[in-house]
Amino acid sequence: PHVARLIAAGEVVSRPLDVVRELVDNALDAGATRIEVEVEEGGLRVVRVRDNGVGIPAESVALAAVRHATSKLPPDVSAVESVTTLGFRGEALWAAAQAGHLHLVTRPAAQVGAAEVHAHAEDVQVGRTSAPAGTTVAVSGLFGALPARLRTQLPPASEVREITALLGRYVLHHPAVHWRVTVDGEARVTHAPADHRGAVASVYGPVSANRVLAVEAGGVRGVVSRPELTRARRDRMHFSVNGRPVQAPPELEKAVIEGYAELLPAGVAPLCVLDLTVAPGDHNPNVHPAKQTVALADLPGVAARVRSAVAAALAAHPL
Ligand code: ADP
Ligand code: MG
Repeated sequence: PHVARLIAAGEVVSRPLDVVRELVDNALDAGATRIEVEVEEGGLRVVRVRDNGVGIPAESVALAAVRHATSKLPPDVSAVESVTTLGFRGEALWAAAQAGHLHLVTRPAAQVGAAEVHAHAEDVQVGRTSAPAGTTVAVSGLFGALPARLRTQLPPASEVREITALLGRYVLHHPAVHWRVTVDGEARVTHAPADHRGAVASVYGPVSANRVLAVEAGGVRGVVSRPELTRARRDRMHFSVNGRPVQAPPELEKAVIEGYAELLPAGVAPLCVLDLTVAPGDHNPNVHPAKQTVALADLPGVAARVRSAVAAALAAHPL
């Protein structure tokens, strides 16, 4: 059972990046408007996420790191179809506590005093403390008890590069949040609440931000670069589906490029940040918790919406 538990936890948390994503998703689900992420030694020493979200009431905090315990599913299981939160499996904190040491401190704004949880493997200890409103979750000593898992990790610098890139995408898709990312004590990303253009400025700099146009039509919101100022790189096409940054499926990248029609030279890809809204049942986030694969029930329909939203944005801004 011990080994089985570690294998199951490893499906959810196989590297520090997974911890970062899960903790940030929880902060967003908690309605945070301020999220601070700290990473040390590539996340193996500690990943800490502090938010100003709704917090967890003291009476339910003991459940937070219990497997399958989630506050995000209604009692009716078939309602998983209508989930709008980023999490709903109730496995992330549990898995983090199997892979390392979990320390969670939380306080809903209206509650006097904060609650804290220390969890590692099957040991869970709950106590009281004081803290500002919101939640701080730290996962330390990741894979300390799993030398084999530790050996297969990327070098810290590589993991940090991927974590920073992931958090950049979160900034792009959640520009209204105040973000701060610190790596080994050094600020890497800071972003004050803004619109998508402001997020492009935080991630790619002011020059890129001055080159984008707003897109807003048919459940597609964000920015695309003005065609004459576009460079040939595909690594700057970003999509989210219902708030979750996802790996861009080629159909959606193609739809953006088609939206430019003949305005875009062949072989050139624009910068884009597009937030797509679909009915909860039309997007299955269940494909794999870690790989942000999109499974859209109506990909051609969504692609058509993207194409016309981009075309409309360009038409509204004649050159
Ligand atoms: P899930 O997100 O799938 O529900 P998690 O293991 O990530 O599962 O979290 C378990 C539960 O702990 C959540 O359902 C939520 O109630 C609570 N929780 C975790 N992180 C936070 C947070 N940052 N703010 C408020 N509640 C949180
Ligand atoms: Mg979660």
